Amino acid sequence: MNILIIGSGGREHAFAYQIAKSKLCDQLFVAPGNAGTAKIATNVALNVNDFEAVKDLVLSKDIQLVVVGPEDPLVNGIYDFFKEDTALRDILFVGPSKKGALLEGSKERAKEFMAMHNIPTAAYQSFTSESLAAGKQFLTELDAPYVLKADGLAAGKGVLILDDLQDAQDELENMLSGKFGQASETVVIEEFLSGIELSVFVLTDGKDYKILPTAKDYKRIGEGDTGLNTGGMGAISPVPFADDAFMQKIEERIVKPTVEGIKKENIAYTGFIFIGLIKVGDEPFVIEYNVRMGDPETEVVLPRINTDLVELLQAAAKQELKDIELEVNPDTAATVMLVSGGYPEAYEKGKVITGIDEVKESIVFHAGTKMSKDELQTNGGRVIALTSFGENFNAALKKSYQSAQKLHFDKMYYRKDLGKDLN
Ligand code: ATP
Repeated sequence: MNILIIGSGGREHAFAYQIAKSKLCDQLFVAPGNAGTAKIATNVALNVNDFEAVKDLVLSKDIQLVVVGPEDPLVNGIYDFFKEDTALRDILFVGPSKKGALLEGSKERAKEFMAMHNIPTAAYQSFTSESLAAGKQFLTELDAPYVLKADGLAAGKGVLILDDLQDAQDELENMLSGKFGQASETVVIEEFLSGIELSVFVLTDGKDYKILPTAKDYKRIGEGDTGLNTGGMGAISPVPFADDAFMQKIEERIVKPTVEGIKKENIAYTGFIFIGLIKVGDEPFVIEYNVRMGDPETEVVLPRINTDLVELLQAAAKQELKDIELEVNPDTAATVMLVSGGYPEAYEKGKVITGIDEVKESIVFHAGTKMSKDELQTNGGRVIALTSFGENFNAALKKSYQSAQKLHFDKMYYRKDLGKDLN
């Protein structure tokens, strides 16, 4: 079958890498893709939120399966666009409906969903500009640090964690006065949870589910997990502290009630649920839902799945997930993200990347890259993810670090301390 992947990051290159290997895949398209996907698929330049352009592509290339990478088109209703169009309705589609995508698109909605279905999460209340005074009062009832979250999508920047009550009250006012535009017209204030974070990925067809490999990512730019938040500086899978007993708790208390809740609320949901969790003592709490795979977690999760990915995605889209066996490679995968100097603040693009052909022990997943006049160049903050396997995360990371030394571009930076917190 002909398959379309929507998106352009390392995540989409990892999807393309696995899908291109499938015997079920005839022609593979990635829109818009990057220099890495161009090597194994046909890139098509388009805006992922221009659904008419996606429709033209799907119909002209006889696409039979569509996989959506990023959250934006999902939150904007690409699933609903397909299902409401008679020419597109029967095409297999992996990605939730707009109603399902609200679990990521609105933090207030996600908290209400968790409360409704008894899913463990931090205590919270939400406020708008009309209830600013009540919000400031609510903060006085909490202990520091204070967690303020813009309700809507804010490119990973909409969560503030503040130590001082006055600062928290001031920031609440700033947020409600438009600090993050429409995204912070409603602000969720929640109890601070102290623990270690991990992510669990679930593929669901809206009735049944498969729990995919766990992953832990490294969000901050600086070593020792310091400095600004990024899209992610690396990841490992599986998470060493998520043992069977802990995973059992996650499945019973979080995954099952989440899928049951989706069913009870009649939400059309075919696709991934990425559950951001925090382990407090021995207990799991949900920090957030995302309605797609993570980046860079995808770069370690998908390479560990031995089951044919197209079979798996097709089964999800046809609501036949219960009939399929998920086979996972027990080895550990680790990925190290090479980024442009200055990222996540201002950085330059168009730097020449050399050394890729010398990397033999890692999979090179492209993120922000492009070809320009036969030269491979940087084209974003996060440039390349180097994924390696090993019998444990130290061995896997060692290989990725060796590979990183073979690659070069001006002002290239990566964190050299991944995994140190787990040793
Ligand atoms: P991202 O896009 O980076 O995944 P986000 O902006 O969607 O994040 P959250 O994941 O809800 O927002 O929060 C961002 C980070 O803030 C979390 O990864 C976690 O480190 C921290 N955080 C969020 N909520 C809490 C909480 N209740 N207690 C402690 N830390 C929290």
